[in-house]
Amino acid sequence: AQERYASIRETPCVTGCGTRVQLLMNAGLMADLPSLESSGAEGVGLFRTELQFLIRNQMPKRTELAALYARVLDAAKGKRVVFRTLDIGSDKVLPYMKPQDEPNPALGWRAIRVGLDKPGVLRMQLQALLRAADGRPLSVMFPFVAQHEEFQRARWEMEKTIAREKRLGHTVPERLEIGAMLETPSLAFASRRFFEEVEFLSIGGNDLKQFFFAADRENERVRRRYDTLNVSFLSFLENIVARCGDTDTQLSFCGEDAGRPLEALCLAAIGIHTLSMRPASIGPVKSLLMRADLGAVKAAIDDARERGEQSVRDAVTDYLRGIG
Ligand code: PEP
Ligand code: MG
Repeated sequence: AQERYASIRETPCVTGCGTRVQLLMNAGLMADLPSLESSGAEGVGLFRTELQFLIRNQMPKRTELAALYARVLDAAKGKRVVFRTLDIGSDKVLPYMKPQDEPNPALGWRAIRVGLDKPGVLRMQLQALLRAADGRPLSVMFPFVAQHEEFQRARWEMEKTIAREKRLGHTVPERLEIGAMLETPSLAFASRRFFEEVEFLSIGGNDLKQFFFAADRENERVRRRYDTLNVSFLSFLENIVARCGDTDTQLSFCGEDAGRPLEALCLAAIGIHTLSMRPASIGPVKSLLMRADLGAVKAAIDDARERGEQSVRDAVTDYLRGIG
């Protein structure tokens, strides 16, 4: 399938109306990195780090992680890689961690909550990332941040780790970006100060949608019940776009929807111009965006909303039929 899109692989994604949209890929294994070239992705918008922790029966060592992260950065050859710190929950139990008995694991002790309560692993991982970068630029984001203070505490862990690395005589990154995943509705309503402090935000649509609609992403019965192109959800995303615009905060979207052409088109039309997806989705998404006029898509979205439609899917599908 990648072959089909080979002719546009090196072409930067510019929509039919002239808007530049950055297409990045999601990854989680060293084996994913060759896709950076074959897909034409401009970088890795989400590197999920939990796999290395889940595939072993003991905690990986800092030196092992640092070696792996260094190989990832080498393979990226200067393209940006956004590393997400460990995102484990009581459903993704590490074999070497005491299992938690929680009635609602998705709402439980997971991701950055674990990182802040038991900071040993987070610190080890941050140190491994700094060592791997060895002076090169580094981007790190924290998963599942629900309020400003969690971001501040996580960033403080990074600052302390940097200070320690300097004391030990290690090189620290020439440029360090620290961001957060926006995957709980609460964070979208954080104070302006939060948006000013965070360098970038990446919308984790898989989780954000499950919490927005109160529909478990793992539950077949409800998981497809609410459309991403539902007008309520799009309005909510538009609010996030506006807040990021007001504060000059870089915004991207890295949930599965970014890789679905129609969804990607709508995300771009409401102003999300950085999308991170599976490598195989880059070609189809790019091909569609290059033919589309985002202003016309936005008009179709607004009209559908005016008409009281629940989802803009039909309206945008009609627009696509029109352009052939
Ligand atoms: C998300 O929630 O959309 C996301 C990208 O993170 P994950 O799917 O790993 O929870
Ligand atoms: Mg998530």
